[in-house]
Amino acid sequence: MSFKSIDRLIRRNSKTKLSRNIVDGIYDQKEEQYVQSLRELLLANNQLPEKFDDYHVLLRFLKMRGFNIVKAKEMFLNMLKWREECAVDAIAKIEEYDAVKRCYPHGFHGVDRFGRPLYIERIGLVDLNKLMQVSSTDRYVKYHISEQEKTLSLRYPACSLVAKKHIGSTTAIFDVKGLGMNNFSKSGRDLFIEIQKIDSNYYPETLNQLYIINAGAGFRALWKVLKACMEARTLAKIQVLGTNYLSTILEAVDPSNLPDFLGGTCTCSATGGCLLQDKGPWTDQEISQASKGVFGKGQKSFDEISTTVACENFPGHQEPSVGKLHPISGWKRTLGMLLKDNQVGDTNENIQQNKVNEQISEKIQELENCSAQTQETLHALLQKQNELANHIEQLRKLLREAANADNKANVLILK
Ligand SMILES: [Zn+2]
Repeated sequence: MSFKSIDRLIRRNSKTKLSRNIVDGIYDQKEEQYVQSLRELLLANNQLPEKFDDYHVLLRFLKMRGFNIVKAKEMFLNMLKWREECAVDAIAKIEEYDAVKRCYPHGFHGVDRFGRPLYIERIGLVDLNKLMQVSSTDRYVKYHISEQEKTLSLRYPACSLVAKKHIGSTTAIFDVKGLGMNNFSKSGRDLFIEIQKIDSNYYPETLNQLYIINAGAGFRALWKVLKACMEARTLAKIQVLGTNYLSTILEAVDPSNLPDFLGGTCTCSATGGCLLQDKGPWTDQEISQASKGVFGKGQKSFDEISTTVACENFPGHQEPSVGKLHPISGWKRTLGMLLKDNQVGDTNENIQQNKVNEQISEKIQELENCSAQTQETLHALLQKQNELANHIEQLRKLLREAANADNKANVLILK
């Protein structure tokens, strides 16, 4: 089976759960096995606090480490250690919140088309000197951590509830208009790198996609420096766009969720501007209450995996309007319906999925064999290259000796 035929297979079955899982990377049996193994490993050593005993949390660490359980465990334990050292659970909202927002326009603003929180930074407008006057690097980093915590415990659960599927990552837009090497000082770069490190080490896989827009020549030079400090997995999720960014952004975000200064239709005129009010389903009290009821403190627990599966595979990707959503009772009823739907269509779809699964597993095996063979061939070729180099050297030596002998003979004749 060729790559093209796999692709065709996926497209043909685009309505089945499996293909959606491949495309979206949401859920599959193999992932569940990895998560279970990691979970058992952590539990056996009493290293899994209840708060993090969560399918999606463990999955994020596994994904970040390419499903290497030992490395994922190490990363997870480093995260726990860091949380303790920095007393992350005790970080409160900073007093200078409003002042920080004024010299560094940024904030969450609605959701993308999939239902993920949309986060926007107008990093080109940052006044770093002023930021350091009203706050400090240390305090700003703490503020960033508190926002990440809020996203995990409040924004994702609320978005999941509204979108009726698991939401565990953010779509971000950084407007870098006017930003370049000259006006992004070393302290600014250090702050950016520090935050990148925290995000990729302790909040892995929470970035869905980052669009950097209005990137000019100055920014592209700066980007070369910043890029060097970032993980390859993160870089793969970043698109650097120039001034013609709008059509790309609108593929991911509905204009009503995009502020007018980025080409959308939202002005949030009633509340003083788009980036000031943390607009999104998480600020709706009924929704945030209901999501707490369903998801507990943060995200879904292990016991809810079956619910999660049904929920994630819900075919309707459209989010219902916030106003129509009933609080807790409505959500539970919806979950019940989803479970039923899932059970009804199970057998036929499962058979089809298993077939596709088998074919893909076979292909993986085939490619792994092929890769092993390539490695062997490469090794043999390298050996051959060495042999040839030796042979050439020996021939050259013979040539030199012959030339020397000739010279000596000539000298003798002349004498
Ligand atoms: Zn707005």
